[in-house]
Order: sequence, then C-alpha cells, then structure tokens
Amino acid sequence: MNKEVDLEDKKLLGSGGYAFAKLTEQEEAKASLGVPQIFLSKVGRLNEERFTKYYCNNCAEEYPGSPAIVYENPNEQVGTDIVLIEKGEYKCRKCDNVLALYRRFNK
Ligand SMILES: [Zn+2]
Repeated sequence: MNKEVDLEDKKLLGSGGYAFAKLTEQEEAKASLGVPQIFLSKVGRLNEERFTKYYCNNCAEEYPGSPAIVYENPNEQVGTDIVLIEKGEYKCRKCDNVLALYRRFNK
C-alpha cells in the first residue's frame, strides 16, 4: 500500500496567512498541541512538495503550490543545553509577506 494515501490535506495557520499541506498523523499531533487548529510555526519546515496551496493575507489571494521557504542553520547556543538549530520563514512568492516563522531547537 502506498503511504502517501494516508496523508491528509490539512490547513496550517500562520500569522500572515495559511497553507494547505499533507501531514502525517504524527506531524499533526505534534503541531496541533491538542487544539483543533494546526500552526505552521509548530510544524517547522516541510518539503515543498507537501503543500497544495497557500493563502496570503497581504495579497488577499490564494496561490497553488508551496509558499517560499527561507531558512538558515545558525547552530546558536541559546541556553545551557539548548541550541537553535534552524530558523526559517514561510513567505508569499508574490509579495514576500511572511506567512509564518518557525524555530527548531535541539530539544
Ligand atoms: Zn502575498
């Protein structure tokens, strides 16, 4: 059986818009924090192929495919045992509006 079939199209909320992407149940559980909404910032970076469409608040328009994903890997020590591994932004491809920010730590 093809694993892709299990993936469901989910709405992921951001501060500057939202996106639809296919998430595994595990990713969904991790990102939703027990509430019905799923936040793009909690999901972190997803492969662009997982996105089906996104909506930009600034353009007030929906676009097919993935928003642009810009990220860096600072590997910056931010606490005793805490390292900031990655920080990134989901951006509108048309106007550069930031749809969501995310941070990934070593724990
Ligand atoms: Zn836009």
